[in-house]
Amino acid sequence: MKILIIGNGARESAIAVKLKGDKRITKMYFAQGNATTDQLGQNVYEESVEGLRDFAIKERIDLTIVGPEAPLVEGIVDEFKKHGLKIFGPEKRTAELEGSKAFSKKFMQTNNIKTAKAVVFDAYQDAIDYVRKQQFPVVIKASGLAGGKGVVIAEDLTEAESTIHKFMIERIYGDAGIQLVIEEYLKGFEASIIAFSNGKNLFPCIPVKDYKKAGNGDTGPNTGGMGSVAPSPEFTAEHYQDFEENIMKPTLAGLESANIHFKGFIFFGLMVTNNGTFLLEYNMRMGDPETQVILALMENELYDVIMDCLEEREISLKFKDEKAVCLVMCSGGYPRKIETGFEIRNIEKVQQSQVLFAGAKASGSRVLTTGGRVLSLVATGATYDEARKKVYDDAKTIHFDYEFYREDIGKF
Ligand code: AMP
Repeated sequence: MKILIIGNGARESAIAVKLKGDKRITKMYFAQGNATTDQLGQNVYEESVEGLRDFAIKERIDLTIVGPEAPLVEGIVDEFKKHGLKIFGPEKRTAELEGSKAFSKKFMQTNNIKTAKAVVFDAYQDAIDYVRKQQFPVVIKASGLAGGKGVVIAEDLTEAESTIHKFMIERIYGDAGIQLVIEEYLKGFEASIIAFSNGKNLFPCIPVKDYKKAGNGDTGPNTGGMGSVAPSPEFTAEHYQDFEENIMKPTLAGLESANIHFKGFIFFGLMVTNNGTFLLEYNMRMGDPETQVILALMENELYDVIMDCLEEREISLKFKDEKAVCLVMCSGGYPRKIETGFEIRNIEKVQQSQVLFAGAKASGSRVLTTGGRVLSLVATGATYDEARKKVYDDAKTIHFDYEFYREDIGKF
């Protein structure tokens, strides 16, 4: 079997490491990959949907797995299927559940899915008139993909008006800001649940706690994710039941009534408040850094699970009864301005964790930083403390100029 994995983050490194030992897989290709995937297969410098399709045809790829959202929203699954290529992920119209927050909010409302109250706006003045009547904070979301930056929690009317102006008039995120979703602010803690879909049913993985803020104690700007822990210690059986009854089951029913039978991942971004578990968003792919801890604990062969989903079989997911911690090491300044090109030293001295590169590329015998999130360190243990100690010991071993990471991942 030849496999193509699309993406270049630590998520794709984790998928590659999980698939590595599988004897059925003869070769793995990565578009565009990074310093980890380079070691496990061949990096391919192809980015466009057409280029990837032609590559998959030419190399007779047996299975393609899509990591990030952009190619899904662009329609890579439709294009691959048109050419008889096997690919794991939702079609374009289903990927809209992530690609358009307006579409997904309407889907949630139509299907009685427990979510924050919200209104969708197409016109600037209507949005302004609306926020003038609201209590603060209020949450303003650009409907389209904005690289995770299109959500602002406006603390007062001035900030709300200026955000609407930036999104709809200045178009700081281009067409992503043509439509807005303005919703009630929910106070609580967040959790992520990723489920596999076999086109008929959803099979959820263990809940994950993701750390989004750059600074210790959840301070500073939002990031792509500074670390994660599985299973989430905060998400109780009661929260899970609420999720299952009021979010997952009506989502499945909604997909069914829209005649959507996709095979891929669905990620539920949840907020747990005093009034229960609410759905903030869907992602139609695995999360990063959620994937790193889920796959560290998953006992099933990933290839089997994906093939079972593609062939509409039931699956039974099994996870180790342990804890997993993922720590993300970043370039100084992230998520704002960063400098790259620094050598990552002492990688070979890491003893206790998996090193999963993201913004890092091999250059001869050295590995250099290329991005904001440079690498993930992932470890498991009987307790959070045990897993946490491993990743932090190894983080102290690895060095690159201006490195930084949070000190409180997995500390409870
Ligand atoms: P989203 O892309 O919709 O998940 O939003 C990104 C982040 O913004 C979430 O992970 C939350 O931290 C925050 N957020 C989104 N919606 C709300 C809400 N209604 N109330 C409070 N925080 C929110």
